[in-house]
Amino acid sequence: MIRLTTKKFYITTPIYYPNRPPHIGSAYTTVIADILARYYESLGYEVFFLTGTDEHGMKLFKEAKNKGISPKEYVDSMVPFFKRAWESLDIRYRRFIRTTDPDHEETVKRIVMRIYEKGDIYKGVYRGLYCVECERYYTAKDLVDGKLCPIHLKPVEYLEMEVYYFRLSKYQDDLIRLYKENTRFVLPAERKQYLIRKIEEEGLKDVAITRPRWYLSWGIECPWDSDHVLYVWVDALLNYISGVGYINDREKFEKFWPPNVQLIGKDILWFHAVIWPALLMSAGFELPQTIFAHGFLTVNGKKISKSLGTDIDPIDLVNKYGSDTIRYYLARAIPFGEDGDFSEKDLVRYHNDELANEIGNLIYRVLTLTERYFGGITPEASRLTDIDKEIIGELRKHLNEYHNFMKNLQVHHAVMRTIMFAQTINAYLNKTAPWSCWKKGDKDSVARAIRNSLDWIYVLTAMMYPFMPRTADKISKQLGLDSIPRLSDVRLIGNIKPGHKLGEKEILFKKL
Ligand SMILES: [Zn+2]
Repeated sequence: MIRLTTKKFYITTPIYYPNRPPHIGSAYTTVIADILARYYESLGYEVFFLTGTDEHGMKLFKEAKNKGISPKEYVDSMVPFFKRAWESLDIRYRRFIRTTDPDHEETVKRIVMRIYEKGDIYKGVYRGLYCVECERYYTAKDLVDGKLCPIHLKPVEYLEMEVYYFRLSKYQDDLIRLYKENTRFVLPAERKQYLIRKIEEEGLKDVAITRPRWYLSWGIECPWDSDHVLYVWVDALLNYISGVGYINDREKFEKFWPPNVQLIGKDILWFHAVIWPALLMSAGFELPQTIFAHGFLTVNGKKISKSLGTDIDPIDLVNKYGSDTIRYYLARAIPFGEDGDFSEKDLVRYHNDELANEIGNLIYRVLTLTERYFGGITPEASRLTDIDKEIIGELRKHLNEYHNFMKNLQVHHAVMRTIMFAQTINAYLNKTAPWSCWKKGDKDSVARAIRNSLDWIYVLTAMMYPFMPRTADKISKQLGLDSIPRLSDVRLIGNIKPGHKLGEKEILFKKL
């Protein structure tokens, strides 16, 4: 027997810092990752989608201390906020990794040990200006009047500590070559140009990857020196290896490694596009295909912050508008890769103009016509007319572009093509006007217009699925289908057989 090899798609989000519940910014990244995961799944790929929480480090340690509980108790209490938010947005991750998971800790130790044995790690001294009360280093430019801690307004002191360094400088040429030769490694392209310029101008310095235990104990122990704890970002980056089964499911790891797309915010580009590939090169792993850094989100024109009241809870939004409208809006309104603004006014406008007026009306209209003229049964129709063929050409163009945009991570353009697809079917109905053909007794033309429209709504449903899984499910039921159409199977004609009975029609989107 021939074993068919399935294509795979491995996508990650950054792991989030659980010192507060997720806001709309982290929801944005996670929703886009889910859209891409569902897209590839609908195309028949085997998909692995990883998200999770980054649970070590000083900030969490201190928050826990303030609350009088252990750091582990503290992170345990925060993780459910993330899981509930992702559930409310219909995020279907395959694993939620926590950096306190035992298999993660074991993976990190093994990989860091490998890098150490290779000679890419050495002991050195970290020197700098230190605030004892903050328990952190500052650079001179952070200080008030050049000498005071910006938080405590007390003089900082000069402090030295022993740490282990990773030889990042050794990988400078390899990294520059990587950016220049592999045009898809860092996207959007202007972010890559920034990295090349910065590295060529300033050169790469080695980076500290441990902290002495006296300084910070909440972290993974350094495997060759128990007086040291691994610094939180090296621990965090390696989640992309442990999360896909490096220790506990080797078969899965072999199937999915390397990541196809790693979504990040542009603020963590340096870690992901410089340090991460250098660690992988050192440890001998194949590199990810694409690191995609999206822009920042503001909310109603303002920065996301607790004090401005713009740290909107995604669950509140879902309760107000429904998850599909939020998903649609996030994918539609913000050009993926650029900075964008989350505006509730726009959200309502897109919901009413595009979802209710364009898509909702189209489906309601076609189902009503089928019911009125053919008792809710898909009619038999004769061959295609020139108008049909012309429309099929247009629809094919939209569908092809939709796929191109999805594969190039231009999710907002793919949404637009979905809307254009619906608009084209609406225009076709207006042009063929089955209601006036009926009056003239031209039943064949009525049947053809309806049969074609139903076939195309079938395709539209598959296109909508990655963005709006709930709506796609509802449309499928209204079409009388057992399951949501898959992008791998749709055709522009012949999806729905004559004689097929449609389901109950229902309004898809109530106007806001
Ligand atoms: Zn301080």
